[in-house]
Amino acid sequence: MIDYHVHTALCGHAEGSMEAYVCSAIRNGLQEICFLDHFTRRPYDRKNSMTDAELPFYYNEARRLQEKYHSQIKVKVGLEIDFNPELLSVIEDIVGSFSFDCIGASVHFIGDWNIVSYRQADRYGEEDLIKLGQLYAESLLDMMQYDFFDILCHIDVIKKFGQTPLRSFMSDKTELFAEIKKRGYVVEVNTSGYDHPVREPYPSFNILARLCEAGIPVTIGSDAHRPEDVGRHFAKTIRMIRSAGYKYLLSFDKRTRDMILV
Ligand SMILES: [Zn+2]
Ligand SMILES: [Zn+2]
Repeated sequence: MIDYHVHTALCGHAEGSMEAYVCSAIRNGLQEICFLDHFTRRPYDRKNSMTDAELPFYYNEARRLQEKYHSQIKVKVGLEIDFNPELLSVIEDIVGSFSFDCIGASVHFIGDWNIVSYRQADRYGEEDLIKLGQLYAESLLDMMQYDFFDILCHIDVIKKFGQTPLRSFMSDKTELFAEIKKRGYVVEVNTSGYDHPVREPYPSFNILARLCEAGIPVTIGSDAHRPEDVGRHFAKTIRMIRSAGYKYLLSFDKRTRDMILV
């Protein structure tokens, strides 16, 4: 199996060296792991991202680990880019100096509100949740207009804290499915949601079944922020992916795609 979303201590809120993640993946019997650490240049969110200066180390360390462990596992490297239209061209320039295997894109913010932060979760109680779902969907649509990304990460993460209207925000948004298909994105099945208040993966089974019906490919990631979380909740999630109708997961090599039996 593959795990296409793991972080490292470089992002400032995860723990463990890159090598510790690779060793954990080998112990868990994975055939492939892809680092997808945070990269953002938001001035008020720098502590949640590696810096420009750390990128060369991050990239080279992943390639060194690929060499060192090549007989046991494939090691890939990409980035999880926080979607911010104002900063995208700067980010594209910086990222363009490396040959990453894939680039993931995430909506973590609505305005200056970090919607995935436990520290800012009280704000859900103050919002009109129907409107909030709409705003989040608009951010996803905006993000999809940029051809720079390969993978859409945790696409229904707005449900993280479990509020009912946000758990089904995509159900009437057929334009989102159409746009994902049209733009050729791969959607990530992110298992971290099992450990969040919502207690289910991103996306939920219903969304996954509709993605499959629409012919949209998926990959899988644990979003591990600790080495021991690599591959978390994979057995049940793989069963879910199969029952949604999928036969393959996608992997990446220097931005080209490959299929792996699920
Ligand atoms: Zn994320
Ligand atoms: Zn992540």
